[in-house]
Amino acid sequence: MLGKINSFQSLGTLDGPGVRAVVFLQGCPLRCICCHNPETWAADGGSTVTAEELFHKILRQKSYFGKTGGVTVSGGEPLLQAEFLQELFTLCKNDGIHTALDTSGCILNAAAKALLKKCDLVLLDYKYTNAADYKAYTGMEKARVDEFLEYLLNAGIPTVLRQVIIPGKNDTKASVEALCAVAKAHKNVQKIELLPFKKLCVSKYDAMNLPFPLKDTPSPTAEQMAALEALIPKEYL
Ligand code: SF4
Repeated sequence: MLGKINSFQSLGTLDGPGVRAVVFLQGCPLRCICCHNPETWAADGGSTVTAEELFHKILRQKSYFGKTGGVTVSGGEPLLQAEFLQELFTLCKNDGIHTALDTSGCILNAAAKALLKKCDLVLLDYKYTNAADYKAYTGMEKARVDEFLEYLLNAGIPTVLRQVIIPGKNDTKASVEALCAVAKAHKNVQKIELLPFKKLCVSKYDAMNLPFPLKDTPSPTAEQMAALEALIPKEYL
């Protein structure tokens, strides 16, 4: 089966446990204002690979994965190519490679559910805890990510909740406490990760002739991030 990938990262350490191969897939139906990968949006961009080809590329990294590493598929939105990924993750799992899916949780159709059966871990981007903000800043209803998380809970799939902290949008104590409450209500959630909003993507927007909605928003300081992280219960760190 053919898939569209944007890029491939070897030896990644930021997207899931241990050392990982990270595959960024092409195509995303959302338009988050903080998106740092606008080059992945167009479904017709990127390069075409077969699941077998991609698997062999991942397999070449296997000696670096150790006990905890593996492969993470990110994007773009990987769920747009759920059937392709199901084939890829089946090959990986048959070879003992840990599989993680980094997703916005925006699609929960039969193909997505079949893919989730092959996921050892889901990194769920839970972008805002407020429904109005979700809609305004991503274009997606918050109910969708909640439904997705509920599905992960019922399927018993280990999950990491991730949130990009954006000054003026979700950088409050109340917002992070609400995120912790979401974790507590879902026993499959093992970890909460707060990621600082960054603006390294500005040159990408310029090159694509697109305005970057958050060009005047500062990144949170290390002190702000530490204060918010201090609100997360130890069991989720
Ligand atoms: S879901 Fe991810 S790739 Fe898609 S627009 Fe949002 S941040 Fe960008």
